[in-house]
Amino acid sequence: MIRNLMNRSTILPILAITIVVAGVASCGVGQEYMSGITWPEPPKVKPGKTDADPPSDAIILFDGKDLSAWEGGDKWKIEDGVAIVHGGDITSKQSFGDCQLHIEWSAPLPATGSGQGRGNSGVYLMDRYELQVLDSYDNETYFDGQASAIYKQTPPMVNAMRPPGEWNTYDIVFTAPKFKDDGSLESPAYVTVLHNGVLTLNHFEIEGITPFNEVPKYTKHGKGPIYLQDHGNPVRYRNIWVREIKPLEGKREREPYFRDDNGKEWPAEKAGG
Ligand code: MG
Repeated sequence: MIRNLMNRSTILPILAITIVVAGVASCGVGQEYMSGITWPEPPKVKPGKTDADPPSDAIILFDGKDLSAWEGGDKWKIEDGVAIVHGGDITSKQSFGDCQLHIEWSAPLPATGSGQGRGNSGVYLMDRYELQVLDSYDNETYFDGQASAIYKQTPPMVNAMRPPGEWNTYDIVFTAPKFKDDGSLESPAYVTVLHNGVLTLNHFEIEGITPFNEVPKYTKHGKGPIYLQDHGNPVRYRNIWVREIKPLEGKREREPYFRDDNGKEWPAEKAGG
């Protein structure tokens, strides 16, 4: 009887081989999925020394020397490589659409004032969508007006604020809104924000402009500058850089397909149907 011929040490290897063969069959080795899209090589970018330092393709808006990249920059004070809010808003001379923005800021020390009067400034994307800057370390205010809020539209998911005097970072990924020829909205703006490395806004859909006393709405516009708000508080800024986002463009040569080791090709069924 076979049963008698096979002891435990024979059965286990056979079982193992069977499992491997079954696994290979189900993974379709010899079958490779091909998207049918030809991609260019992604451009090489040299990262900064640390993740806070600008990579090689960044546009530097402030590196501690001067605010010559900004309209109105001569009004602000620069001390020890730090730009301090003074005498009005400043607006980047260059305009941007989709972008990645790194900016560091510090609430005034000692902390004075309360609510919206304490360490208030703001990073406006495309000249009109405010990511709030505020000393929200230990400071009550309305939640959609605290640091890392899109002003009057959403609070941040969490409060990742550092104490006044310490440096905060915003790493912002912004998708510009798109408009149709007739001026109506084709797709809204989206923003993702890391505050001190903590995700505070995840692909948040911006509803339009962010004033204190108006309904958010969209009005057709093209690229726009970044502006930093003077709200009367000496908020400090440093290390500001931006990268324009340029999606890699692939060319569809054919519909998705499979191929095997012998060069045989056949159409790929749509997944999830
Ligand atoms: Mg503000």
